[in-house]
Amino acid sequence: SGPLLSVRDLTMTFPGRRSASGRRGAPVRAVDGVSFDLAAGETLGLVGESGCGKSTTGRMLVRLLEPTSGSITFDGRDITRLSQRGLRPHRRHLQMVFQDPHSSLNPRQTVARIISDPLLVQGWSASDARRRAAELMDLVGLIPEHIDRYPHEFSGGQAQRIGIARSLATSPRLIVADEPVSALDVSVQAQIVNLMERLRRELDLAYVFIAHDLSVVKRVSDRVAVMYLGRIVEIGEKRALYESPQHPYTRALLSAVPLPDPAAERRRERIVLLGDPPSPAAPPPGCTFHPRCPKAQDVCRTDRPLLRIAASREVACHFPGD
Ligand code: SF4
Ligand code: MG
Repeated sequence: SGPLLSVRDLTMTFPGRRSASGRRGAPVRAVDGVSFDLAAGETLGLVGESGCGKSTTGRMLVRLLEPTSGSITFDGRDITRLSQRGLRPHRRHLQMVFQDPHSSLNPRQTVARIISDPLLVQGWSASDARRRAAELMDLVGLIPEHIDRYPHEFSGGQAQRIGIARSLATSPRLIVADEPVSALDVSVQAQIVNLMERLRRELDLAYVFIAHDLSVVKRVSDRVAVMYLGRIVEIGEKRALYESPQHPYTRALLSAVPLPDPAAERRRERIVLLGDPPSPAAPPPGCTFHPRCPKAQDVCRTDRPLLRIAASREVACHFPGD
């Protein structure tokens, strides 16, 4: 059988902002030709700095945003242009967990209502949906007796468990998790990552797990894709990518991940990138990473590197290597 999810040349162009003089700026290509496959039960970590297009990509995958061009095939069906109505039979299999649990949960709804909502949409009776919501609370480590409480009565980590329970209500096959732990205390982050890892095994879920650094996705991912200015610059098996990153940007991100062994931590080189990522409204010519790249040569300023195979993964760099 084919992949669960197949993404080809996914692109999202937003209209340019209007300036004070009323003139419209150039369109912004937030996502520019993203392609990958995901197998059932597999996790792809999607990593990059803020503004690189990873959240926009995630929202397109679950069709909260309609792509400008490209295609999304889910379980063999092209869902790219389906209407909300045409999407309905697929909706239950495609769910999302959001970054900030408190702002993504309606403060005026009880947990029972929040978790039941996707089920009521699917035509469940209120009593069946409530029973299922209580089971899901138990599954994610919440106390089912708290089902009639409101989101503000829960800590950030507990609120994210509610968001996860809601995403699981319809027994989805794919969950896009958009930085699900980055708004949480560091002490709670590992608990939520461990919970998601356990749920994936027990429920045979596939995840696209979005994060801004490589340390968060290391545990959960089978493969990792690194994005920069709307494009994937390196994608491959987790182990190969962490042990021998081929793209200078991946190397820089990886050099910021703390090592558990203090001696190794003291020995390792830290690659500090110059400046912030350029604006996607005015991407640099050639390799868009060249203004910050320690390995940049003349060709990098003029020729855009395409993804190609290097060291058993795909890398978009004229001079890949570790
Ligand atoms: Fe650096 Fe050139 Fe590779 Fe871009 S193509 S990442 S500038 S070495
Ligand atoms: Mg984001």
